[in-house]
Amino acid sequence: MLDAVFFSGEADIKDKRLIRSFSYINGKWHQAASGEALLVSNPATGAHLGEVAALSADESRAAVDAAQKAFQTWSEILPQQRAAILRRWYELQLEHKEDLARIMVLEQGKPLSEARGEIGYGADFVEFYAEEAKRPNVEGVTSHLPDAEMELWREPVGVVALITPWNFPSAMLTRKAAAALAAGCTVVAHPSGETPFSALALAELAERAGFPPGVFNVVTGRPATVVEPWTTDSRVRALSFTGSTEVGKLLYRQSADTMKTLVMELGGHAPVIVFKNADLDKAVEETLKAKFATSGQDCLGANRIFVERPIYDAFCEKFIAATKRLTVGHGMEDPDIGPLMNATALAKQEAHVADALAKGATLACGGARHALGPLFYQPTVLTDVPEDALILHEETFGPVAAILPFDSEPEVTQRANDTEYGLVAYVHSTDPRQIHRMSRRLQFGMVAVNRTKVTGAPIPFGGTKQSGLGREGARQGMEAFTELKYVCRDWG
Ligand code: NAD
Repeated sequence: MLDAVFFSGEADIKDKRLIRSFSYINGKWHQAASGEALLVSNPATGAHLGEVAALSADESRAAVDAAQKAFQTWSEILPQQRAAILRRWYELQLEHKEDLARIMVLEQGKPLSEARGEIGYGADFVEFYAEEAKRPNVEGVTSHLPDAEMELWREPVGVVALITPWNFPSAMLTRKAAAALAAGCTVVAHPSGETPFSALALAELAERAGFPPGVFNVVTGRPATVVEPWTTDSRVRALSFTGSTEVGKLLYRQSADTMKTLVMELGGHAPVIVFKNADLDKAVEETLKAKFATSGQDCLGANRIFVERPIYDAFCEKFIAATKRLTVGHGMEDPDIGPLMNATALAKQEAHVADALAKGATLACGGARHALGPLFYQPTVLTDVPEDALILHEETFGPVAAILPFDSEPEVTQRANDTEYGLVAYVHSTDPRQIHRMSRRLQFGMVAVNRTKVTGAPIPFGGTKQSGLGREGARQGMEAFTELKYVCRDWG
């Protein structure tokens, strides 16, 4: 296998060294000793994009060996030195933004401007944590013992394992890695086999930024083979995962015997609640974004759109008209909606639509595959979706919107909270008291009021219930990769 069998000229990647097929361990690029590789394809065309090395469990363990060895030095250098390397990594991501975005479009399928947006969003975390690395990590405690002085130290936890999904192949890695590296931890990372090239390009830039060997490692291959040696290795002191709730639970169980810190960013099932006093046009515009960004494949995606009955018909009319205007196409053409990631994702759209229609929902638009190719699905709106429809109970993860009416604030609060998920909820209202009540009563880690975009480096991102554990971003995202040490000194 060559280390760069990727891309035809179509992609116009200027810096070809960003295209890597081998795993990056201890500052070197590694093919699998077995020669095994995994195929990666372009979801828009089905074309074969390239191959990445499929490392064995022993080779994956070797990444932990390297990270463990590097930890001693990395955790003890001055935070300012770590910050300088992180800063350089950030700058390189911006310098290569266009290439990184195009690599992402080819393997993930998302529209080019969304891919550019993700590179900028992901790089923001690196910049943020480059600064955060320098903040104080010691706190005094008012002594309760005579002649004693007390301090709390935040110390890096050790080797950290990061497992990232295909829907945000770049930003989910930078969001986790920058926090861990800034804290003084070393990293072993495993990207989704469907979108490994974005992570490998980040590894190439990490090398250029000057991370010492072993500090940042990216291991490709079959997920169970690569990740299981990490969950069961007591040298791996924290594991941060973004992906499905199902795999999150599996990794949680696998990690139990080694008692790791766990950060889990799992599925969502976001409600959008539009009250009759809302700014209707704005609510439509924002809900369209909350539903169709990332072609609907977003953990923050609006899965249940509740609209108060007096404005229900008007909202539906405007939302359906706006959905019909959405363009569908190959990511490089920068449409509104690209392909889905794989055949399973497409089958889920078909199943949710068929189920809702069988139970009495109305199909307002879409509702079928798109002529562009086997992974394209038409932007779809279902109205009057009945309470027992699957789409109101499972994450759809695609471009199908489900709208239903409600009659009162207590009723909609109860229905919105009636889910095992708790990542984000959206509220549209112009009544300040109502906004306050809803912000308090919604059982979600994040509440967005009269807008959709709320995330970014300075805020702690994360969910409650089965949407996950812990937070990413902000100071809290870095603290997840530290242990608190209490020191008590006698000065009498
Ligand atoms: P997934 O759970 O299938 O895969 C996520 C990662 O886990 C990938 O790297 C994959 O290789 C790895 N993995 C899969 N099976 C594994 C196994 N048996 N052992 C170890 N690792 C394994 O999820 P996905 O389909 O890639 O991503 C979509 C899901 O991610 C959705 O549910 C979405 O809501 C969620 N998500 C959550 C957030 C968030 O921040 N809460 C962000 C993005 C995506």
